[in-house]
Amino acid sequence: MKYIVFDLEWNQSPWGKRGEIERFPFEIIEIGAVKLNENREIEDTFRALVRPQVYTKLHFGTRAVIGLTEKDLAGGILFPEAAESFFKWCGDDVRFCTWGSADLTELQRNLKFYSMLDKLPGPVFYEDVQKLFAIAYETRSVRRALKYAVEYLEIPETGEFHMAKEDAFYTAEIFRRIPTEVLGNISVDCYQSPKTRDDEVFLRFDNYEKFVTREFGTREELLENREATAVHCFICRKNVRRVIRWFSDGSGHQLAVGRCPEHGFVKSKLRIRENGEGRIYGVRTTKMISEEDAVRIRKKKLYLKTKRQNKRKK
Ligand SMILES: [Zn+2]
Repeated sequence: MKYIVFDLEWNQSPWGKRGEIERFPFEIIEIGAVKLNENREIEDTFRALVRPQVYTKLHFGTRAVIGLTEKDLAGGILFPEAAESFFKWCGDDVRFCTWGSADLTELQRNLKFYSMLDKLPGPVFYEDVQKLFAIAYETRSVRRALKYAVEYLEIPETGEFHMAKEDAFYTAEIFRRIPTEVLGNISVDCYQSPKTRDDEVFLRFDNYEKFVTREFGTREELLENREATAVHCFICRKNVRRVIRWFSDGSGHQLAVGRCPEHGFVKSKLRIRENGEGRIYGVRTTKMISEEDAVRIRKKKLYLKTKRQNKRKK
């Protein structure tokens, strides 16, 4: 298996929303990538400059950060050709690595625009180096800029930031410094969410579990589905009695708490998402919690209920 660390630069409508194609807000103009072997040693690099077809003028924001001009891009190749040679260069047995989750989504959106999504079937498992950096060197939930991580790890700054090839190189250098035991924290991109029950994704980490449901037509359908809303113990996996039934926590997530007679309280959180096709899927995480946490969640549910009732009275 090879690791493909890649980075994209993209442009957007220079005329704002007015000139934007809704299903194609960002047009890729540069692909940069580094190939690493299983020992995370650098084997090869890739760069493609893409001549834009939709937004041919650079947006002022893009122009300000990237080191490219319209003249440079005019010398590029068309996206289908760039994507074709990129995937050919990648080879078959690869694991993609990126800084954050945006690049994989935009790559798929551009592939879809050119009817080339079969080049990258999803859901796509990948290493989110931004997340791995946080887990390895800070706390799980922080998200740092690439430059911050480069400085933190004292990686020699050999090129500009916001150039795809350089950013891919920096991301690769950070990735090489991630301790091996942290690599298990795999991410999954669901722009192409699971289609059937067989495609559903189940990931187990040290202290939590992640389950990505298949797609549904509506939120309601998802919330009525028994598997999507099952609550089970993280330790023994048995379905457990719910002590707090599903409720909306006010930030767009659904929460429920169950209690395993043997192992204690377990929290399930269900995030409802929309995929690239406008279909609905759920990402459910499950973890053990303390009794105090369970009490706190119950109070939150009561508080939200009272708030809603008061609103209605007014
Ligand atoms: Zn249990």
